Amino acid sequence: MSTVAERREMLRKAISYYAYRYYVLDDPAVSDAEYDALWRELVALETEHPELITPDSPTQRVPGAAAERFVKVRQPSPILSLANAFTPEELIAWRDRFMKLLPAEDQARVQYVVEPKIDGLTVVLHYENGQFVLGATRGDGEVGEDITANLRTVKALPLRVPLLPTPPAPLPVREGGEGSPLLVGEGAGVRSLPSSGRRGAGGEVPARLIVRGEAYVPIADFERFNAAQQATGERTYANPRNFAAGSLRQLDARVTAGRPITLWLYQIVVIEGVDAPSTQWAALDTLRCLGFPVESRRWLFDDFDKLVQHCINWGETGRRQLPYEADGLVIKINDFALHERLGFVGKDPRWAIAYKYPAEEAVTRLLDIKINVGRTGTLNPYAVLEPVPVGGVTVSSATLHNEDYIRDLDIRVGDTVAVKRAGEVIPQVLRPLVELRTGEERAWQMPDRCPACGEVAVRVEGEAAWYCVNSACPAQLVRGVEHFVSRGALDIAGFGIKQAELFVELGFIKDLADVFYLDPQQLLELEGFGEKKVANLMAAIEASKTRPPARLLTALGIQGVGEVVAEDLMAHYDSLDALAVAPVEELQSIPGIGPILAQSIADWFSQAPNRHVVEKLKAAGVTTAEVKAEVKVEAGPLPLTGLTFVITGTLPTMSRDDAKEFVKTHGGKVTDSISKNTSYLVAGETAGSKLQKATQLGVSVIDEAQLMQMANSK
Ligand code: NAD
Repeated sequence: MSTVAERREMLRKAISYYAYRYYVLDDPAVSDAEYDALWRELVALETEHPELITPDSPTQRVPGAAAERFVKVRQPSPILSLANAFTPEELIAWRDRFMKLLPAEDQARVQYVVEPKIDGLTVVLHYENGQFVLGATRGDGEVGEDITANLRTVKALPLRVPLLPTPPAPLPVREGGEGSPLLVGEGAGVRSLPSSGRRGAGGEVPARLIVRGEAYVPIADFERFNAAQQATGERTYANPRNFAAGSLRQLDARVTAGRPITLWLYQIVVIEGVDAPSTQWAALDTLRCLGFPVESRRWLFDDFDKLVQHCINWGETGRRQLPYEADGLVIKINDFALHERLGFVGKDPRWAIAYKYPAEEAVTRLLDIKINVGRTGTLNPYAVLEPVPVGGVTVSSATLHNEDYIRDLDIRVGDTVAVKRAGEVIPQVLRPLVELRTGEERAWQMPDRCPACGEVAVRVEGEAAWYCVNSACPAQLVRGVEHFVSRGALDIAGFGIKQAELFVELGFIKDLADVFYLDPQQLLELEGFGEKKVANLMAAIEASKTRPPARLLTALGIQGVGEVVAEDLMAHYDSLDALAVAPVEELQSIPGIGPILAQSIADWFSQAPNRHVVEKLKAAGVTTAEVKAEVKVEAGPLPLTGLTFVITGTLPTMSRDDAKEFVKTHGGKVTDSISKNTSYLVAGETAGSKLQKATQLGVSVIDEAQLMQMANSK
């Protein structure tokens, strides 16, 4: 384990290297979330050990030195960055910090302007007597790069201001409505709007004007560009921000001219010759009146609680609807007099903060690699991680997929790794950050024995997975039992992985059928198993004996036999006994059953221990034969016979499982995914991608009521 000083050194080196790739080469080596995680670790480390801070630490400077290939431009005043808040609490802490520095009368009148934090490249534009004369990047905040020629090709940039002889009509100020300026907070619309002063647009030309904004590329343009580049095998960009930066920092402005760059301006750095606005809100108006593109989504608050709520809500809704990438919101105190009073701390102004939305990626230490034994005996490697918050939850383990994944990415125990967790997906390790290696990391070897039972493990040729070959492996049995009792299978309430582990460990369960031979007296002796709990469990086990045989077949966990295949098989063979003796060729003739699957089914039934399980199930009174078979024949085809359904969303009265059962008892078939063979999509509330796909494929969409009507129509 490295010392604090060593870790700090590694972080510094890595951050400096990544910043160079990002700011100078426009070719990031890691994602923003990963970079930010390292940055935060360094800040935390330096806060805890201030003696380790030196002036050359990346935290002490605005990163992004001007590249040698451009003429350097000294900024009129430092073009600084922003402090970040990642949680509502951090926003409140920011407010509390600056409020302490203000006299009481000022505290009472603080207003805030909230703007999207657009993910682009800072540009600083200089105008003399209304003419655009110079455009620069931010660089390190003191010295930027002269990219005037490139900026001239950006169509949204006015080459002369004011652009129009008379200012455009002011935007309406009203409450609500995405895309329009919105007044929110106490006294909204009542407090006087900050005056814009003389806007320098009624014919007056500012003698000197320097403005700051963001050059960016809309997401759709970025995707179009990357797709075209990919098709011709040319360079693609990691994200719209790097695309904008790379395009503006071309030595040949003709290249820039072909790129879909646009702009929006949010700050007046210098204004001479006309009245200067005194608030941020008014500055945005002034910029707009001068002819600059200004984002119309902006909000004015005087109630901080409402502002915080807005920041939280906007992450869910507004942000996702933007045509450009925004990684958060910027909150600025409206009154410039207060900016003067508050000043800066380090490289960040005290009067503004960026509220950033939680990233779905994080960086943490990989402490160990362990193996999970799957139901079919697969040995699945997973990472044991130093716990880290990702996308709002704490993650302490993540999948590593298989041996090849670990080897191809050269993931080692002790590495600092990038971890991703998106939505409901299992967290995964993306890659190691090799720049942070200390030399103490160790390469990992897939074990050649099952870690659960010690038996030999093999890797089947052509497959990525290793398997434990021991069919009596307790870890496999635990997973098998977990599947056997799960919802899509025998659906035994109160029986899950914990009970499976316990009963296998105690030897109560040695094969799947033993689920039906549990002795309630023995269970009562276990800690935490009271009378009521045991009675409920036994009743749930009893009830599961009469599930349709297709569910039992699914529960057996034969490789490749899921719910749909099990239904197909049981539609042909009315009992497990009949299926057990079916020849491979016959199985293969069933639509949807290929040769590999047919062989897998036949192999399963040919093994004595499996046949023994089926016998034990029958002896326990579990239904293994279709009881309604005769009735079916007599009744002729059912109303939904021959129709295939997919069910999605939340239905008004039935659960999804109930709906499946309903379709099946009326002769229909239910599958999980939509294809052109699907007859109907039954869609409930919040139906998502399946609904979209159904529309694309021209599959008819019905609701629960229509399904019921159909089923009762004959
Ligand atoms: P920042 O992105 O945290 O925020 C400050 C910037 O926000 C300003 O400079 C400005 O350009 C921009 N901005 C957008 N809208 C704004 C608005 N309405 N008002 C004011 N400013 C607005 O800080 P930064 O210093 O520009 O960049 C640091 C970020 O760059 C990091 O957080 C990281 O995500 C990214 N980065 C990534 C890598 C990498 O390797 N992937 C490397 C270095 C930096």
